[in-house]
Amino acid sequence: MFFCLLTSIGIFVYGFHNILWSLTIYFFLEVFVGNATLHRYFGHNAFEMRPSLRPIFIWLAHHIGVGSVLGWVGHHRWHHEHSDTPLDLHSPKINGVFHILFGTWNANIPRKMVKDLLEQPGLLWWHKNYFKYHLVLIFTLLLFSPWALCFVYALPNLLCLFSGYLIAILPHWQGHLSNSFVTEVFTFGEGWHKNHHENAKAYRFHKFDLTALGIDILLKQKICPNSTAQLKKSPEIDFGQL
Ligand SMILES: [Zn+2]
Ligand SMILES: [Zn+2]
Repeated sequence: MFFCLLTSIGIFVYGFHNILWSLTIYFFLEVFVGNATLHRYFGHNAFEMRPSLRPIFIWLAHHIGVGSVLGWVGHHRWHHEHSDTPLDLHSPKINGVFHILFGTWNANIPRKMVKDLLEQPGLLWWHKNYFKYHLVLIFTLLLFSPWALCFVYALPNLLCLFSGYLIAILPHWQGHLSNSFVTEVFTFGEGWHKNHHENAKAYRFHKFDLTALGIDILLKQKICPNSTAQLKKSPEIDFGQL
């Protein structure tokens, strides 16, 4: 709601054409930060990131509107263990779309879900200080660049958040796991969601996977052995009806 408000004010004050900046930033954040870093790197340890890039991408991973890395990964790993069951926190069939969009995904995720990440330096600090940091960032941008607050911060965050909703809802529609064309178009790689659930350790979800290409080009130090081994066994699955 906050992101929507800032975006609306920004468009009213500065003009609609500024959303092109936000769309460009969104593309980078979605492919390299949301999909590659948060989901495939932290969420599933699917590849090893270049050490020189790691601090930058830890920082960036806390700028896509979905909370701290620790919090998001805990919820996501829980989702993989319990998807489309009453324990799933965002099943469109069980919880409903309205709850996913406007409810709170409350759960006491066991610490063991993120045990490996708790040992990594920095992530716990971000988890404890996430909201304080963003309050400072918002007020700083408000003072020095309201334009950046609207089009570099709010709208790209909103688009990343929206992509997360698309991933949570469409590939799990009516409790049936599927690949989703609409999700793929909007998220540049995460639409191959059925493939992903079947091989969660694979860093590449499909041969046409823009995020995997981004990992190959920019982020990867090397691919974890599990990831390549499981990719070879990965079946080719086409998009379902969505
Ligand atoms: Zn899922
Ligand atoms: Zn996943």
